[in-house]
Amino acid sequence: MNKIQIAIVGAGPAGLSLAIELSNMGYEDIVVFDREDEAGGTPRHCGHLGFGIFEFYRLLSGPDYAKKLVSIAKDKNIDIKLTHTLVDIEKNTLVFSTNDGIQKYVAKKTVLALGARETPRPPRFISGIRSPNIITTGALQRFIYMHDTAPFKNAVIIGSEVVSFSALMSAKHAGIKIKALIEEEKNINSFSILKPLSELFLRIPVKVGYEIKSINGENKQVQSVTISKDGIDETIECDGVIFSGKFTPESSVLKKSFKDFNYVNNSVFVSSAFQTTNKNFFAVGNVLRGALTAFKCYFEGKKLAKYIDDSLKHEKLRPLHVKIACDDTIQWYYPSMVDLNYPSKTLTTLRVKKKTIGKIIVSVNNIDVYEKQINAKTYTNIKIPRGNYPVSKNDTIKIRLEN
Ligand SMILES: Cc1cc2nc3c(=O)[nH]c(=O)nc-3n(C[C@H](O)[C@H](O)[C@H](O)COP(=O)(O)OP(=O)(O)OC[C@H]3O[C@@H](n4cnc5c(N)ncnc54)[C@H](O)[C@@H]3O)c2cc1C
Repeated sequence: MNKIQIAIVGAGPAGLSLAIELSNMGYEDIVVFDREDEAGGTPRHCGHLGFGIFEFYRLLSGPDYAKKLVSIAKDKNIDIKLTHTLVDIEKNTLVFSTNDGIQKYVAKKTVLALGARETPRPPRFISGIRSPNIITTGALQRFIYMHDTAPFKNAVIIGSEVVSFSALMSAKHAGIKIKALIEEEKNINSFSILKPLSELFLRIPVKVGYEIKSINGENKQVQSVTISKDGIDETIECDGVIFSGKFTPESSVLKKSFKDFNYVNNSVFVSSAFQTTNKNFFAVGNVLRGALTAFKCYFEGKKLAKYIDDSLKHEKLRPLHVKIACDDTIQWYYPSMVDLNYPSKTLTTLRVKKKTIGKIIVSVNNIDVYEKQINAKTYTNIKIPRGNYPVSKNDTIKIRLEN
């Protein structure tokens, strides 16, 4: 059994910025673990520009951004243990699968910075053939930017989040022809301008309001995708399909290890001080919700250092949390617990699952205390202020959406 002061699981922007900040504060006994054989997290395979402006005042590609973070961490002699996959948490013991077998660590404070991943094809229940040419944007970008190869020549992109347009640009970079970008909802799930821009300048049809009926082909070779609108089917020929977006936290280990699991967020309950329901465990970055930008996760990591410092210095400070419950019309919300030790101006920030015109209502012990009119898209961040109503330990806070 290895004993350490601070364990950070996940060497992406959130985990590394936290490690660097803790090192700046004078902490030395920090170990960052990652399952990959290189540190840096998701930006390692996002070969486009779009990183670093707020953190380093320079526009960087994902791999350059990841390298910069890793080199700062290495200059500070932060111990980064690679090919360590967290497979279980037994009480406070972290269980890793490594090339040398199972390794166990106990830390005074553990931070879960496991990131998020796109929803692949199987949970989307789309019929048709199985094929290695049905992949996510993340996988596409790994082929292109890490292995310098294109997995197919003509593809269809399913989804219309910002990451779907990132898939589109990566495909273009690799010489893959995008036959269409298809969205099941009536509108695209990102900035509306991206639709006319893609259609006019890149000549890529962006088709909204279509059901994906099946992926067709033979012998594991994709040959086409059938989509349907208003009862009329259309078949698009292609040899690859990219499922993009619908990010979900990397939380399978957490689901089995935490008694209290938040099924709306598909993650652990977390307070505004990033503390989970286990006082020695914190969570930060995209593992808290779907994907936000790298700089958001980087600054969350930096902010968390102060709370870790506080919790190490004031071991006797008892966490005082009140859970916030949301119905499942909510895509995600963070924080999911009010932290009575750290008053905050914001109760929570949330996103809706579908474009919604209606109102958000907050109730405490079934009495409505706040309501807000909304006209929100799926990517609109809706901030709910904390307000002045009193909340104490055994209260029940609920958030509901009314159309
Ligand atoms: C295609 C794409 C394009 C993007 N483009 C941009 C952009 O242009 N600009 C921008 O700001 N952001 C962009 N982002 C978002 C950005 O990459 C993320 O916001 C950021 O990487 C999240 O940081 P994180 O540290 O929370 O998680 P991650 O970067 O995902 O890091 C999590 C780490 O945890 C590790 N891990 C997970 N599970 C385990 C386990 N069980 N055991 C051990 N290790 C584990 C993973 O290997 C990974 O290294 C993009 C994302 C994608 C997918």
